[in-house]
Amino acid sequence: MTNNVSRRTLLKTTAATVAAGSMMSFSHLAAASGHKVVVVGGGIAGSTTAKYLKKLDPKLDITLIEANKDYHTCFMSNEVISGDRNLDSIKFGYDGLKKHGINVVIDHVEGIDAAKKQVKTKSGKSFAYDRCIVAPGVQLNYGAIEGYSQEVAKTIPHAWKAGEQTAILRKQLEAMKDGGTVVLVAPPNPFRCPPGPYERASLIAKYLKENKPKSKIVILDPKEAFSKKGLFEDAWKRHYGYGSANAIIEWHGKDAVVKVDAKSKTVTTASGKQVKADVLNIIPAQKAGKIAEVAGLTNDAGWCPINQKTFESTIHKDVYVVGDSSIAGAMPKSGYSANSQAKVCAVAVYASLSGKQMIEPSWVNTCYSIVAHDEAISVAAVYQLNAENKIVDVAGAGGLTPGGDAFNAEMRKREVQYAYSWFNNITTDTFK
Ligand SMILES: Cc1cc2nc3c(=O)[nH]c(=O)nc-3n(C[C@H](O)[C@H](O)[C@H](O)COP(=O)(O)OP(=O)(O)OC[C@H]3O[C@@H](n4cnc5c(N)ncnc54)[C@H](O)[C@@H]3O)c2cc1C
Repeated sequence: MTNNVSRRTLLKTTAATVAAGSMMSFSHLAAASGHKVVVVGGGIAGSTTAKYLKKLDPKLDITLIEANKDYHTCFMSNEVISGDRNLDSIKFGYDGLKKHGINVVIDHVEGIDAAKKQVKTKSGKSFAYDRCIVAPGVQLNYGAIEGYSQEVAKTIPHAWKAGEQTAILRKQLEAMKDGGTVVLVAPPNPFRCPPGPYERASLIAKYLKENKPKSKIVILDPKEAFSKKGLFEDAWKRHYGYGSANAIIEWHGKDAVVKVDAKSKTVTTASGKQVKADVLNIIPAQKAGKIAEVAGLTNDAGWCPINQKTFESTIHKDVYVVGDSSIAGAMPKSGYSANSQAKVCAVAVYASLSGKQMIEPSWVNTCYSIVAHDEAISVAAVYQLNAENKIVDVAGAGGLTPGGDAFNAEMRKREVQYAYSWFNNITTDTFK
């Protein structure tokens, strides 16, 4: 593929995310060839940025450093937990990115020296950069719940990073006796994938209904509301008896879990309520990936402030933060957001290396949640910058799937196919 075709392909693919008028002026950008770009983290945001930057200028020297040989997507991992798909179906390698000419290094980044413009890894290597893109996702704030830790998570999984953790939770559900109680502890805002805990609860309820009908799942939530709440509750009522004496699914809000006794799998809430689980899934509070914190890219709340037009850190020059770690205005922390942000970030980095003006970007996000057999719901939004350079919703450009009779069985079923199609598209776009 020639340089021109690559650039055309990028512009076509990002049509939904980049304002058309501004793209016209972008076509005469000079090549940014020869510069070194180091990407920290090969998840959705890091991989997409690396790939699209390489498409913009194949002569850029791009190194992507990722801690793990394989990446497991969190999206669709809830279906692994419910036994509807296997773990291998959400596993992706880095051969695709290598084929694009990206230098993929499997190593753990331990430091970013913004003054010397160097990235250091666990194996002792140093990588010089002209621009560094930091995309480490989230870290789990275990300390927020007394008695919970990385060590305890080996037996009381969070499964909020997919792979080994997903498999642990699946095994525990399979081993649980019929009549058991699954307790899911939901996190406080902000966290990755706002509808994720509730999709997980729905799919666990589906598994229980089909395999262990005397069992139930109890959600303990510090929040009083959550993403797509009305649509989730509507599905829970129709499929899992939500609100009735025989409910397979219960939701208890506005009462944070503050303590866990790992041995007895009992949690205590702020109001003093104790709940004992047979299978316990704790999704703790979250903050930006550890390396972002170590590199001094975070604010007091633990997230990375950025120029929301370019994703350049407002703390360190020539360092960009993209994906879950960043504070990206109204955008939720999702894979689709990360992918959309990555394309804008790639254009911004390319523009800065070429000495050209950045375009006026826009972004898109859709989150599907599978709630029952042959039934899914979704939320979609389009974003733009406001006068204060903040990412905001474009009014009227998105919305939720309708509830009630307006959303018939055929449409609910089709939504599941849209979810699978979205999964295939985003993983191809990111890794292949
Ligand atoms: C259960 C669940 C369901 C979800 N469902 C959806 C969905 O349906 N739709 C959707 O859009 N989003 C969904 N998400 C959210 C989505 O997975 C995340 O928002 C997305 O992965 C964020 O991308 P990222 O690149 O910022 O982080 P990640 O994808 O987590 O990537 C970060 C990468 O950085 C690497 N890394 C971290 N630190 C270092 C270091 N120091 N050195 C080297 N490498 C490092 C990690 O190994 C990882 O590969 C879901 C999340 C969960 C938990």
